[in-house]
Amino acid sequence: MTAVMNTYGRLPVSFSHGKNVYLYDQEGHEYLDAISGIGVNALGHAHPAVTEAIKSQADLLIHTSNLYGIERQQKLAESLCAISGMESVFFSNSGAEANEAAIKIARLYGHNNGIDLPQIVVMDNAFHGRTMATLTASGNRKIQAGFEPLLGGFLRAPHGDIEALKNIAQNNRNVVAVLVEPIQGEGGINVLPENFMPQLRALCDQQQWLMMLDEVQSGNGRTGEYFAYQHHDLLPDVVTTAKGLGNGLPIGACLAQGKAAETLGPGNHGSTYGGNPLVCAAAQAVVDTIAEQKLCDNAKQLGNWLIRGFREQLGDKAIIKDIRGQGLMIGIELTQPCGELVNQAREKGLLINVTAGNVIRLLPPLIINQAQAEILLASIVDIVNSFAESH
Ligand SMILES: *Cc1c(COP(=O)(O)O)cnc(C)c1O
Repeated sequence: MTAVMNTYGRLPVSFSHGKNVYLYDQEGHEYLDAISGIGVNALGHAHPAVTEAIKSQADLLIHTSNLYGIERQQKLAESLCAISGMESVFFSNSGAEANEAAIKIARLYGHNNGIDLPQIVVMDNAFHGRTMATLTASGNRKIQAGFEPLLGGFLRAPHGDIEALKNIAQNNRNVVAVLVEPIQGEGGINVLPENFMPQLRALCDQQQWLMMLDEVQSGNGRTGEYFAYQHHDLLPDVVTTAKGLGNGLPIGACLAQGKAAETLGPGNHGSTYGGNPLVCAAAQAVVDTIAEQKLCDNAKQLGNWLIRGFREQLGDKAIIKDIRGQGLMIGIELTQPCGELVNQAREKGLLINVTAGNVIRLLPPLIINQAQAEILLASIVDIVNSFAESH
C-alpha cells in the first residue's frame, strides 16, 4: 500500500526538471520528450512565456471564484473565439469536465426542443474521460468495466462511418448530438475519412443535431491548425479542448456557437475553480505564443515531415501495419502488442507512449525543431527495427 492511491501503472523514472523538448531525471539523464505529458506540454518544458505569465499573475491574484467577473477569463475567451470562429466559452479544469459541459449542453438543447430522453451518438474506440458520463461516452469496455450502472442516453456508431449515422437518423427521433474526436488519441491515432467532417456537418444540419467535437487532444495546434476541424471549411456547434491549452496548468474549455452557445444559462452549470486568473494567464501565454511563433505551421511542417519519414523508412517492414496521423499527432501501428517499446525507448533517452496495445503514439511539443525531429525519426526507426529483429 502506498500513500498515493494505486490508479496508474507508472514507469520507474521521475523527473527533476525540464527545458524545451527535454526532461531530466533525478540522476541527470536527458530524455527527448516525444509525448509531452500526453499532449499537454505544447510549448515544451519551462517555457519562459508561460513561466513569466504564471509568476506575474500569482503575484497579483490566483483565484476569486466565478461569483465575480474575471478579466483574464474574459480575455482568454475572446482570444479562443477569435481563433476558432466559435462564440462563447465555458472554462473547466480538465478535458473530461469540458466534455461534461458539452454533454449537458446537448441534453438541455434536447429538452428545450421537447425531447425528454435525449440521446448522444458516440464512436467506437472513443475516449472522452473518466467521469461517469465521459467513461460511458468512451468506447472502451476496459475503462467502463466494474463501474456499472453506466449512464443512459448514449448510442454508439463505428468511428467515421457516415452511413451508420444516417441509419441512426432514420431510426431514432431522440438523437440530439454527435460527439466525435477528429483524430482519436487514446483509441490509437485513428483518423477520419477525408470527407467525413463535411458529411457530418451536413447531416447535423439536416437533423438539427449538434455537431460536437472532442479536441481535448487534437486541439491547440497539435494537428497543424489550431483546431483539427479547421482543416475543413466548417464550424462545429460545440468543441471541447484541454490538454495543450494550459501547458500543464489544469484548464479545459467548452466552446459553442449558434444555438448551442445560447443553451446554458445562469444556474445550469458551474465550476469553483474553472477559468481562474492563474490558469487563464498561463493559457493566454500559450495561445499567444502559438500564434506569435507560428507553431501550428511548425506542427504541420515537421509533423508531416515525420510521417513521410516514418513511411519511407518503415512503411515496407512486415512488423508495420499502418503509419498515420496529422501534424504532430502521430501513430505507428505494429502487427503485434509493443508496450515494451516504451521502456526500450526510455533506456535510450526517448519518451514515447504506446496506446491501444500496438500503436506507438508520438505527441512531441509543438516547439520541436528540425534537428530534434531528425533525432526522433532516427531513434524510432532504430527501436522499431530492433523490435522487429527480436520478434
Ligand atoms: C485526455 C482526453 C480526455 C480527458 O481529459 P482529462 O483532462 O484527462 O479529463 C478527453 N478526451 C480526449 C480526446 C482526450 O484525449
